[in-house]
Amino acid sequence: MKPLFGKPPKPIDCSICGRPIDVHGAWNDGHNAWPVNDGRCCTNCNSTVVIPRRIMDLVRKENLQ
Ligand SMILES: [Zn+2]
Repeated sequence: MKPLFGKPPKPIDCSICGRPIDVHGAWNDGHNAWPVNDGRCCTNCNSTVVIPRRIMDLVRKENLQ
């Protein structure tokens, strides 16, 4: 597979667990870590930390209404 931007993707560190974010082809950007923080995070942290946090915030918001 040919890299999109001329050079091979370089892994960046997850802003939650600090490990390099898993690279999928030319996609090395991981996931949006919001609302945990405003960086990027790996797939593992996305599904175990970020998504539960988003659901929790949603439930809390609904309970306030
Ligand atoms: Zn992580």
